[in-house]
Amino acid sequence: MKKIIIAIDGHSSCGKSTMAKQLAKEIGYVYVDTGAMYRAVTLYAMRNGFFPDAGINEAELKAAIDAGKIHISFKFNPETGRPDTYLNEENVEEEIRQMAVSNRVSPIAALPFVRALLTEQQKAMGEEKGIVMDGRDIGTAVFPQAELKVFVTASARVRAQRRYDELMGKAKTQAERDALNFDEILKNVEERDYIDSHREVAPLRQAEDALVLDNSNLTREEQSAWLLERYKERVG
Ligand code: C5P
Repeated sequence: MKKIIIAIDGHSSCGKSTMAKQLAKEIGYVYVDTGAMYRAVTLYAMRNGFFPDAGINEAELKAAIDAGKIHISFKFNPETGRPDTYLNEENVEEEIRQMAVSNRVSPIAALPFVRALLTEQQKAMGEEKGIVMDGRDIGTAVFPQAELKVFVTASARVRAQRRYDELMGKAKTQAERDALNFDEILKNVEERDYIDSHREVAPLRQAEDALVLDNSNLTREEQSAWLLERYKERVG
C-alpha cells in the first residue's frame, strides 16, 4: 500500500497527539510529536537560565543552537507503547509536560531560529513518508504537500478540562494534585492559542485543504475511528 504523510494540526490540548499516536500504531506509521520538540528546547533554555526576569535571552539560546548543543530525539518506550522525548540523551518526557514548561513554550516556539532548526529536522523525518506528525504548522509549513491534513479544535474550556484531567491522572502526590488549578490551565491554553496564532513565522492556521474536526463532543474512540476512515479514503 502506498505510504503517505499525515499532518495533524490544531489548538493546544485538543487531543491531537492521542489520535495521531493511535492512528500511527494501527497503520504501522512513525509518530512524531513536534510539540515535544519545542518543549524540549524550552526545557533546555530554562535549565540554562535563559529566562531572566522578563523575556528570553535569545542571543544565548541562538548561540547554543548554533553550537549544536541541543540534540532532541525520540526512543520507543515498551512500557507505555509510545515514544519518549530525549534531550541530549536524557529522557525528559515527564518534565516537558509540566506547567512550568507549558507556560514558557509558546514564546520560544515563536523565535524564527528555533523554528528553522526544528522544521528542518521534521522535514528530514518525513522523507520516506509513512509518518503521522502533529503540531501547529505541519500542514502549512513542514509538509504543505501532505496527502492528508486534519485541523483539530474544541472549545477552550473542554480542552482545559482534558489537560486538567490528564495532569491529575499523572500527579503522584497530594501536593502535586493540590497544585493543579483549572483556571491557570485554561489561561495557559488561551494564551498559547493566542501566541501560536499571532506569531510571524508559521502561525497556527488551518491549511486550505485541511479537513476540520471539532471534537468537543466526541469520545476518543469516535475521533480515532473518524481519522482511520479518512486515512483509508486517502490511500484508496
Ligand atoms: O503540542 P503541544 O501543546 O505539546 O505544543 C507545545 C507548544 O509548542 C505549542 O503551544 C506551540 O507554541 C509550540 N508548537 C509549535 N509548532 C508545532 C508544535 C508545537 O509552535 N509544530
